[in-house]
Amino acid sequence: MNKDIKIVRTRYAPSPTGLFHIGGARTALFNYLFAKTNNGVFIVRIEDTDVERNVENGIDSQINNLKWLKIYPDESYQNPGNHGPYIQSEKFDRYNELANKLLNEGKVYRCFCTPEELEKERKKNIKKGETPKYSRKCLHLSKEEIDSKLKKNIPFSLRLKLKDDYEYSWNDIVRGKIDFNTNSMSDLVIMKSNKIPTYNFAVVIDDYDMEISHILRGEEHISNTPYQLAIKEALGFDNYIQFGHLSVIVDETGKKLSKRNLELKQFIEDYKNMGFPEVAITNFLCLLGWSRPDNVEIFSLIDAIKHFKIENVSPSPTTFDFNKMLWVSSQYFKQMDDKKYISFVKPFIQFSNKRYLEVQDECLLLFKNQISYAKELNKLLEELFTINKFTKKELAELDFFNTKDVLLMVESFYKSLSNLKDWNIDSIKLLIKETQTKSNLSGKDFFQPLRFSCSHKTHGPELFRVIYILGKNQVLENIEKVLSEIKRWDYEG
Ligand code: GLU
Repeated sequence: MNKDIKIVRTRYAPSPTGLFHIGGARTALFNYLFAKTNNGVFIVRIEDTDVERNVENGIDSQINNLKWLKIYPDESYQNPGNHGPYIQSEKFDRYNELANKLLNEGKVYRCFCTPEELEKERKKNIKKGETPKYSRKCLHLSKEEIDSKLKKNIPFSLRLKLKDDYEYSWNDIVRGKIDFNTNSMSDLVIMKSNKIPTYNFAVVIDDYDMEISHILRGEEHISNTPYQLAIKEALGFDNYIQFGHLSVIVDETGKKLSKRNLELKQFIEDYKNMGFPEVAITNFLCLLGWSRPDNVEIFSLIDAIKHFKIENVSPSPTTFDFNKMLWVSSQYFKQMDDKKYISFVKPFIQFSNKRYLEVQDECLLLFKNQISYAKELNKLLEELFTINKFTKKELAELDFFNTKDVLLMVESFYKSLSNLKDWNIDSIKLLIKETQTKSNLSGKDFFQPLRFSCSHKTHGPELFRVIYILGKNQVLENIEKVLSEIKRWDYEG
């Protein structure tokens, strides 16, 4: 840790221009982990200055879903500390005051160029193969020219005058040294003509006001950093900040995650609605660019705090692997206590029938070791209670019915089951065991035909549970259907 930093203060600074996305959640989480491993403070600040792009529910989606993930900020719009306001739209006076100060000091200048003129310049640059750069036309306006334009009420923005041929560099805590020369940079707008500060300007002021010590954010912000350093310098802010730019998150084809890719669920809300446990999501998010040196992949947030080290955060692109997310989540269901599991999944169940309502908990438990999110259960329950029809041909093709011993075994099971008085898991389990002992069949040769006879399926959860859940009448009826066919077969022939 740098000696100039007394207390670690990190921030997650979402713009409410969309719903809480997997990328934002990863940034929030890494800032949270970094703060917590260093006994620091984690702040959430809402950057809502891009008024036209803000969406309804944008703020709520960030705040509520962060809460759902149990990433609790120490200071935020909802629980302010003494570094507020924590939402930029409440700080316009502060930004304007500092912009005017820079104007008076001659560090920024008024730019009267219209968007059309600027676009023309940009195109010219591109045509010449140059990176678009403002021509500084308005930097050279005389006092009279400026006064006359002001008199005519021509709108203007404020631009920071960058030093020529000057290097801004920082030691990125994820990537090492990064530098930019101002020759490749353009005098940037800090205040738009509508008196709304630009992102870069507001951010520098907020990070200063909030005494932020470390900024972890997506790599798309690397090119903003030299501008922020230039603004900070112009404002005379001497606070020490360390930057770390996190890797880009790509899909399985290597492309940067795009919110427009509707096939890939990317919003935290989606996972919540599908019935993923929040602990599984935070666990999965941790693995997007960070790994524990001991390679343990399933761990709680508390454990993550114990092990998190910025040195182990990788700058290389990280793949958003949905199958991995399913796997991580399935591990949480497997570990979950039965009671907790049932109360967790129940609210997501839309399936219902009479028998299901009698044996709900057993049905749900049937799939505890199998599911990754609670809504998966709806399809599984539907399948469980669907009794498949089969044709004679299909039955004949099932090679496990091909000996007389099988027929005798199924008949014997049918008889015992019809006489069974106590309908419970243990009695059914015992009955299966007795039937197997009486028969000369072992393993698959015994279970495959029995399963099919009872459920009309070749695969499924533990057979004694399936039998219990389907109920006596249904299972007897299922066996009768199979028996009535196979009894007619000529086993000797
Ligand atoms: N509001 C910015 C964003 O949502 C935050 C950038 C930063 O962390 O500085 O991308």
